[in-house]
Amino acid sequence: MSKQLQAIRGMNDILPEQTPVWQYLEQQVRSVLTTYGYQEVRIPIVEHSALFSRGIGSGTDIVEKEMYTFDDRNGEKLSLRPEATAGVVRAGIEHGMFYNQVQRLWACGPMFRYERPQKGRYRQFHQVSVEAYGMTGPDIDAEMIMMTARFWQRLGLSEHVVLELNTLGTLEVRSRYRAALIEYLADYETQLDEDSRRRLTINPLRILDSKDPATRKIVTGAPSLSDYLDDESREHFAQLRQILDDAGIAYKVNPTLVRGLDYYGKTVFEWVTQSLGAQGTVCAGGRYDTLVELLGGKPAPAVGFAMGLERLVLMLETLQLVPEHVSNNVDVAVVAVGDGVAHKVLPVVEHLRDALPSLKILMNCGGGGFKTQMKRADRSGAAYALILGEDELSAGMVTIKPLRTGDEQQQLPLADVASFLKAE
Ligand code: ATP
Ligand code: MG
Repeated sequence: MSKQLQAIRGMNDILPEQTPVWQYLEQQVRSVLTTYGYQEVRIPIVEHSALFSRGIGSGTDIVEKEMYTFDDRNGEKLSLRPEATAGVVRAGIEHGMFYNQVQRLWACGPMFRYERPQKGRYRQFHQVSVEAYGMTGPDIDAEMIMMTARFWQRLGLSEHVVLELNTLGTLEVRSRYRAALIEYLADYETQLDEDSRRRLTINPLRILDSKDPATRKIVTGAPSLSDYLDDESREHFAQLRQILDDAGIAYKVNPTLVRGLDYYGKTVFEWVTQSLGAQGTVCAGGRYDTLVELLGGKPAPAVGFAMGLERLVLMLETLQLVPEHVSNNVDVAVVAVGDGVAHKVLPVVEHLRDALPSLKILMNCGGGGFKTQMKRADRSGAAYALILGEDELSAGMVTIKPLRTGDEQQQLPLADVASFLKAE
């Protein structure tokens, strides 16, 4: 026998027992986004690799180590998207959506990164990516953060996440700071962890983010980016903080917060939870005012964030915050007793569907005895079994049996079933 085929490591099936939570999460998020006037954009999963190396930065972990890259049959280098922003910017430039315009956009779907799979970290994972273009002020940064706060409120997660904020200043600030940081870290080069040593010349800001204890200790003495900030970034950050203070949104300024992608500048933020162990960031973003120009468009300011759905699903499940109505349960299960009865019952059920379009009705197809069918009805989570046999059909009657209460079953004229169920 040939070996059983299995899914690729780090790429998960989301099975029917899990999909209701996903749908619930996605619905809540979508509904908040819509009420803030954000519009959905759907972009390809595969893009030219150059888009990501140019946009995200060739010295980043994502581009250096994590991308799924392959040659197309005609020799073009393509990559599975590791994130959505680069693709959204590419699409926006291609379709002339940015120049002199304001856009509020969101995209959702699978992203791919070759990482070591563990809880909360996978090779195929899902993000909602939210982006706003054409607005320079801190008001749009604040709107985005307030909107994320509203997600947590809707999902019951508010007490379980904290907001961390930082400002990275302009490109010029970062390059001056970079030089100072390299100079400082160079003295400790041999004591840095291996990744950080490699990053020393290519992406030294990421060293601030290292999880290695020895490196962390060295980093405490490093020059602080805040001492290098330009006035404009300082002012932008002060205003953002003021808006958040006035709105009562709590945050912690974390001066070592940097993002793993090169394109961020000025505001950066992360929502972090303690409930998931190591993979604690559930939502992360910031400004990327230079990205549109970097990818070939006319300059357009931008701010955005990405939210990891697996980690949010994990949180909802771990903290038992999934509402009871979120399930695959149906409302009514139809039990059709007797040979060939299903043929006559199906049209009756269709009438009921016409009368109550949102009622979830599970028809028993494939026969089976009364007991078997009742067992199925029970497993479907239905509140009622609708029992129909030859006798009932010819008398124009139906038996309704409550499955979740101890109430007695009763017989009703077929014509009254819809109004009975509507009232329930
Ligand atoms: P991390 O520091 O956890 O690697 P990151 O900085 O690489 O995160 P971003 O690229 O900013 O993450 O992505 C935003 C969010 O997407 C993360 O906060 C997280 O919730 C989610 N995410 C990122 N990578 C993964 C992954 N491999 N598996 C599951 N979720 C992920
Ligand atoms: Mg990462």
